[in-house]
Amino acid sequence: MNDDAPARTSGQLREHNRVRLLRAVHDCGATRTRSRLTRELGLARGTASVLVAGLHEERLLDEAPAAAPARGRPTQVPGPHPYGPLALAVDLREDTWDLALCPLGGHATTVVAGRPHDGTPGGALRPLGAAVREQLAGEAGTRVVGVGMSAAGPVRGGRLLDIPHLGWRDVDVAALLALGPYAPPLHLGNDARLAGLAEARRGALRGVGVGVHLHVAFDLGGALLVDGRPLDGATATAGEFGHMRLTGGHGRCRCGARGCWGLEVGGNALLRHAGLEAGGGRGWDTAERILARARAEREVRAGRTGGGAGAAGTDPSGAGGADVGDVPLSGAAAVAAVEATAHALGTGIGNLVNALDPEAVTLSGLGVPLHALAGDTLTAAYLDGLMDVHRRAPARVVPSALGADRRPGAHGGPLTGAMEAVFDAFLTPEGLAAWRTGPGTRGRTAPTAAGDARTTAEARTGGDGPTSGPA
Ligand SMILES: [Zn+2]
Repeated sequence: MNDDAPARTSGQLREHNRVRLLRAVHDCGATRTRSRLTRELGLARGTASVLVAGLHEERLLDEAPAAAPARGRPTQVPGPHPYGPLALAVDLREDTWDLALCPLGGHATTVVAGRPHDGTPGGALRPLGAAVREQLAGEAGTRVVGVGMSAAGPVRGGRLLDIPHLGWRDVDVAALLALGPYAPPLHLGNDARLAGLAEARRGALRGVGVGVHLHVAFDLGGALLVDGRPLDGATATAGEFGHMRLTGGHGRCRCGARGCWGLEVGGNALLRHAGLEAGGGRGWDTAERILARARAEREVRAGRTGGGAGAAGTDPSGAGGADVGDVPLSGAAAVAAVEATAHALGTGIGNLVNALDPEAVTLSGLGVPLHALAGDTLTAAYLDGLMDVHRRAPARVVPSALGADRRPGAHGGPLTGAMEAVFDAFLTPEGLAAWRTGPGTRGRTAPTAAGDARTTAEARTGGDGPTSGPA
């Protein structure tokens, strides 16, 4: 429906309020009471009751009593319906992938965690496609309204994917996934951009007007977010900050450019600084062991012993042993690798703050342990590169408030952003209409299934077809 229309029919107004209410329930994580949502949305109490009843009937909302009811009348908390819509979210990294199912409200359940692949397009995407098809054919699959997919490279046209350091060029993701003509829409997005979207919706950039998010994996990428929306650029590849010459490097990057910042920040850089081979989306475990070794060394230097779990404490044997991978690496060398990487990260952030003037810069992926282990070095390099105009009140640099990636059961920024991309498309009059006209037509689990599967599936994959994420 057209929000610019000067007059609305009562039906349009009701649809508008349905979307607003569902969006509010989703954005708050299904934690707010109906009375609070009613107040925040400026709805009459009776209107809210009618809306909630209708949304329950359509399997879009359910209500549960508040855990600690306020004084007076008992209050209800709207949340996802047990037979309601689901997002199927995928995080495809250079070496592994995760799969999770997520209802309205954003509380995802991991389906597959850390499944390794061989680094080729077919070797990664064909088994992933089989796993997605298995989910769509399963008990909950009929409720899936979209497949959101984060990938570690630039995405163009919502379809073509490059992953430079794996040598992927113009990979047609939908063709290799082969989800079939009746699958829900595929929303493919860049990992760093989706991590930024997630941070703006549920993390440390929530409510921030202008923010920069940096996602550090094998190398790094990012997003400029204005009022919670990532800037796309003319061809939807904006935010490739990792491929700017921000630290004065000269090496040739696999992306085609020279001197890229990403050559000095991320898992590959940690490996190189430690004198180890890097590239091809391999060596993540070793990079984490370098972080663990650096952390253990810091604790020793601080006069403490033992190693509890920490931001980078991922491998106790790596922290206490003599080698990192198969290569001897001293604690001092691990600390030096971490310090050099944190220095390069801080230097680049200073450049970005000078150029983009954000209120805050958030870090996800390896940015979180780098910030924890070498925050002083990072901050010093950041401040050293700032213009005076920023130095008086520098943009704050903070680790992601979302869960870590690559942990059992964790739902980090890229996966969360992929889920958000699905709900951004679904929580629209068009998305709800498709659910209403054919609820459960992809759904054997639907208690009120009606309509024809083919018709609904075609409706959902028709029109402009798959999109690349939130507009
Ligand atoms: Zn590059």
